[in-house]
Amino acid sequence: MTNQDREALPITIRGVTKAYGRTKALDAVDLDIKEGEFLTLLGPSGSGKTTLLMVLAGFTRPDCGSVLFGDKEVIHMPPHLRDVGMVFQSYALFPHMTVAGNIGYPLRVRGISKDEIEKRCEWALETVQLGGYGERRVEQLSGGQKQRVALARAIVFEPQILLMDEPLSALDKKLRDHMQIELRRLHEKLGMTTVYVTHDQREALTMSDRIAVVNHGKLMQVDTPDRIYDQPANRFVADFIGDSAFLPVTRSGNTASYAGTVLKIDHALPDGDLLLMIRPERLKIQTGTMSDGSNSFEGIVSDVVYQGDSFALYATLPDGQSVSLRGVIRSSTLSALPKVGAPIKLYLEREDTILISAAEA
Ligand code: ADP
Repeated sequence: MTNQDREALPITIRGVTKAYGRTKALDAVDLDIKEGEFLTLLGPSGSGKTTLLMVLAGFTRPDCGSVLFGDKEVIHMPPHLRDVGMVFQSYALFPHMTVAGNIGYPLRVRGISKDEIEKRCEWALETVQLGGYGERRVEQLSGGQKQRVALARAIVFEPQILLMDEPLSALDKKLRDHMQIELRRLHEKLGMTTVYVTHDQREALTMSDRIAVVNHGKLMQVDTPDRIYDQPANRFVADFIGDSAFLPVTRSGNTASYAGTVLKIDHALPDGDLLLMIRPERLKIQTGTMSDGSNSFEGIVSDVVYQGDSFALYATLPDGQSVSLRGVIRSSTLSALPKVGAPIKLYLEREDTILISAAEA
C-alpha cells in the first residue's frame, strides 16, 4: 500500500487573520504551498506558527480569510472532514492502549473493517520502522518510539496533507537529528503535502523544500533554505537564521561602501538602507596576497575560542564594529591560531559579500 495513487493537494491561504484580544496571532497571511511540498513554518515563540497550523487543521477558525485544499474551500469544514494527518509535540497518544490500538483509532472512527485496519496498521508500522510493535503498550515505549507511533497514526489513513507541530522537540539531540532525516525520507516516499512547525532554524534548514519565516503573525520571507540563509529579505530573517555580524554600509547610486571602500558584490543592491551581513563561516583569514575579487578588512583579534573541531575568532574593526569567523582546526593549525591583541587581515570572497536591507521587517 502506498500513497502513490492519491494525489497530493496544494494549499492556498489568502488573507487569513486571527486576533486574540489585541494580539494579532495572524495578520493577513497569504501563502501558496505546492502539492507534495515540505514547507516549514519557522519563527520565534509566539509568532503565530501554531495558530496557522491549527487554522489548516480546522481546530481554529480565523476571523477572516480563505484556505483552499486543491480547489476546495475548507474554512468552514470541521477537522475530521479535512483529510489531514496531525502530529503534535506531545504525541497525544492513548497511553493505556496498545500501539495498534492507537494507530487503528482514526480508521475505526472512519468505520473501516477490522481486516483492513490490521493491514493498514502493519503498513504504517513498517513505514515508521516499528514493524512488530503492534501489541506493545504505548507507556512502555521510549520517546522516539512514541513519536513514531504518533506519526504512524497520522499517516495510516493516507491523508493528502500532513501537519506537524514541533514533533521532535521533546527528543534528545541525537535522536532528533536522526528523526529529521527519517521524516524527510518518509516525506519523499509518501509525497504528501507537509506543513511542519518549528522554532529551530537548523531543523528547518535541514528538512524543508521551502521555509516560511513568521514574525508577529506575518510572513517575513517564503523561500528555499539556501536563499533564506544567503539572501535574507530583511534584518529579522538574517538575525533569526544563523549567526551574523551586520556592518553599516553607505549607499551611493549603484554602489555600497564600508569604511570608505567600495564593496565588490555579485548581486543587485536591495532597496533602502543597507547592511553588510557577515556569516562567521564565510569570513576568512588572509595569509598571502588577495585576489582582486575579494573584500578585505583589517582588525585586531579580540578573542579566540577553541571548540574542538573548530575555532571561533572575534576581531574588532577600526570603526569599533565586531566580527567573528569560524575556522576548522586541523592539528597543525592549533598552535598557529592568531593571538589576542594581534593585528589580523580578514577577507570575504565577492560571492560571500552579501548586502541586505536594513529594514527590520
Ligand atoms: P507560536 O506557535 O509561533 O509559538 P502561537 O500561534 O501559539 O505562536 O501564538 C501566537 C500568538 O497568539 C501569541 O501571542 C499567543 O499568546 C496568542 N495565542 C495563541 N492562542 C491563543 C489563545 N487560545 N488565546 C489567547 N491567545 C492566544
